[in-house]
Amino acid sequence: MDPHLQGIGMTSPRTRERMTKRLSEQGISNTRVLAAMREIPRHIFVDEALASRAYEDSSLPIGYNQTISQPYIVAKMTELLLASGPLTKVLEIGTGCGYQTAVLAKLVEHVYTVERILPLFKKAKDHLWDLKLKNIHYLYSDGSNGWQDHAPYDGILVSAAPLEIPRTLLAQLAEGGVMIIPVGKQGSEQTLQRITRTADGYKTELLEPVTFVPFVSGKE
Ligand code: SAH
Repeated sequence: MDPHLQGIGMTSPRTRERMTKRLSEQGISNTRVLAAMREIPRHIFVDEALASRAYEDSSLPIGYNQTISQPYIVAKMTELLLASGPLTKVLEIGTGCGYQTAVLAKLVEHVYTVERILPLFKKAKDHLWDLKLKNIHYLYSDGSNGWQDHAPYDGILVSAAPLEIPRTLLAQLAEGGVMIIPVGKQGSEQTLQRITRTADGYKTELLEPVTFVPFVSGKE
């Protein structure tokens, strides 16, 4: 493997191993999720100056006022998404640096990822390409519209917080499908929610308090 991808010292496989051990102590129990996070080099998704902090349990800046979610949140959202069984098509809104995308790509058949900030979109694509993840499909667009061409999805993961869940996204969820999404104002309490589409509607579960950047309409 390319030594930069593999990592050394603070970015080494041993550091990743310690991160996954901490995640399981924090309650993450899905062994496939833990294995994916042990494998994906998180440090390549952040600026070189921050690489040594990539495996700490904190969110980090990725530019354009955006952040890479902390490892615990990535693990938790992925575990919640996968709880009902294997997934074929997952829509991700907010590619950001692409780390969550990479973790998903290891665990589901196809990932459809949408980002509204062009430089982030391009950089994420390059990094994901370096990892040779070929089951990722990319769209530079406002995620409020989802990605109709490939709908319905059996999973939708949103990594920015809207005040209300966009109807279009709900409509693109397959029956039996699950959406994991933070909802609420920035600066006040946001709640992670799990929405399950049933035969006659949607079931909502409120999960835990979280802090996400805002879900924004339009493209940049
Ligand atoms: N999972 C990402 C999170 C990045 S932060 C990571 O770990 O890097 C959230 C991302 O959502 C930002 O990149 C932001 O630009 C994007 N975003 C916010 N609103 C969006 C929208 N309406 N459509 C698409 N992307 C959006």
